[in-house]
Amino acid sequence: MNRAAQNQGFTCEHCGASVVPLTNGSYRNHCPACLWSKHVDLMPGDRAATCHGLMRPQHIEHRRKKGLAIMHRCVECGFVRANRIADDLRQSDDVDAIAALMSRLTSPLR
Ligand SMILES: [Zn+2]
Ligand SMILES: [Zn+2]
Repeated sequence: MNRAAQNQGFTCEHCGASVVPLTNGSYRNHCPACLWSKHVDLMPGDRAATCHGLMRPQHIEHRRKKGLAIMHRCVECGFVRANRIADDLRQSDDVDAIAALMSRLTSPLR
């Protein structure tokens, strides 16, 4: 597959939202509505993983160079990956969903 074919929109398998591709050239790898992702990459964008399990958003981390990142964990195999938060003019990540994840960071449960 070439890069253009990989960077297409998709339907979220967790909440059913229609997700449009990013316009800034980077890969959209999680749903902007519920923030769930899918285990399709070994390295970002390579689509080389064979697991294809859904990846649950765990919490938000601040990365020194990359800014805010969502930590995803695969519900099938436990693989953990950091994904940058997408801010795209057409469809950016849902601020309420991000705020809910961030509040989990400071919750006493942790
Ligand atoms: Zn979703
Ligand atoms: Zn997996």
